[in-house]
Amino acid sequence: DSVEVQIEDQEFQLEPDNELRFEVENKNETVVLELKTGLAEIFGTELVKGKSYTFHFGAKIAVFTWQGCSLKLRGKKGISYISKETPMMFYLNCHASLEQLRVKSEKENIRGPVTMVVGPTDVGKSTLCRILLNYSARMNALGRRPIYVDLDPGQGQISVPGTIGAVMVERPAEVEESFSQAAPLVYHYGHTNMSINSTLYNTLISRMAEVIHQRMDENPRINCSGLIINTCGWVKGKGYQHLTHIALAFEVDVILVLDQERLYNELVRDMPVFVKVVLLPKSGGVVERNNKFRLEGREARIREYFYGSPRNVLHPHTCEVRFSDIKVYRIGSPPIPNTLMPLDMQKTDLETKLEPVTPGLNMMHHILALSFSTTVEEDVVRTTVAGFVCVTNVDTSRQMLTLLSPQPKPLPETIYLMSDVQFMDNNA
Ligand code: ADP
Repeated sequence: DSVEVQIEDQEFQLEPDNELRFEVENKNETVVLELKTGLAEIFGTELVKGKSYTFHFGAKIAVFTWQGCSLKLRGKKGISYISKETPMMFYLNCHASLEQLRVKSEKENIRGPVTMVVGPTDVGKSTLCRILLNYSARMNALGRRPIYVDLDPGQGQISVPGTIGAVMVERPAEVEESFSQAAPLVYHYGHTNMSINSTLYNTLISRMAEVIHQRMDENPRINCSGLIINTCGWVKGKGYQHLTHIALAFEVDVILVLDQERLYNELVRDMPVFVKVVLLPKSGGVVERNNKFRLEGREARIREYFYGSPRNVLHPHTCEVRFSDIKVYRIGSPPIPNTLMPLDMQKTDLETKLEPVTPGLNMMHHILALSFSTTVEEDVVRTTVAGFVCVTNVDTSRQMLTLLSPQPKPLPETIYLMSDVQFMDNNA
């Protein structure tokens, strides 16, 4: 029902501490932004004057200026407006406090700040992480190397939905990408919701924390830069228990709570005294996303994994593999009645059990993760994954699977882990 208007170049004058907000609302629509005068940044990344930045469908952007600036927007778009009310001063103060802790950790040769960002859905958690990471990466003279940890399997920002991951941030993200990408650490969880298999989720969290702590111990620069941990918006009941498990496993020092006083009070009550819990306002610009948008976001993320983005087009391969030539497992067996449970087995053992999957129609459209393990004698569940393929066709008569893959040939040794997450490949 939105009226499409073709808008030619629109100029905006921003006073200091203001931001211009806009969205790209329609498919096939692009909006081009240019900084004409002054200084401005997008979620912590500085804009280069005179350079054109192109945004595509789904982008929800705020161009903020500390000093004042003029901007030009080209392309048709929905709402765009200037806001004078932003929480950027609070966020900058957070960055300054974290920076003090980094300096202290450098001097005393101790671990730098481990920060966790929490809050309900759609309050700008990912955006705050991005701002804090970009601010620390912008101080390149200091050589900060914070690690970004994304524990929300629903978005799969670091690789694809159904996974959790971590990546070292060496430079600010490009304006048009969300996080800078360098060899990430990725764990296969297999669901987009933590509640489906809490035991597995917690197991992976503990393992990931262990691995990251080890890396920090080995590298002083990473160690003093610390971590920024993004979490998912499920903050009640069991969701809250997950948050406290994360805090414990990663040994967090700082928890930034966005927008929810109740959650803030609970954490102040339950966290040890040395954990600093800070309540922060959310930005009025954060856009609420409905389930449809979330689903589209997931799909777009997977499509980008295989096909790349407009600024980095990828050409995936399609290959066939015989049922008998592929080793597929899933983690967690279906629940069995207590009476049938072997005496020496716990429910939690079942949830992290590796179960062979017989190839067939049940695999259609599913994402399969390629484990770094090659035999089931290894600790497959707690091992990271190298990449993903998608099952685009199952031919039962010929006993063949068709896979969409970044690699030309399936690797024969690989153990594939089947995800609940599915992807319909329209390009095929
Ligand atoms: P959460 O991680 O809490 O779910 P996000 O950080 O992903 O929330 O933010 C939701 C959406 O709002 C994102 O698309 C983001 O780009 C957008 N957004 C965040 N801050 C602003 C802002 N100040 N103005 C406009 N859009 C914003």
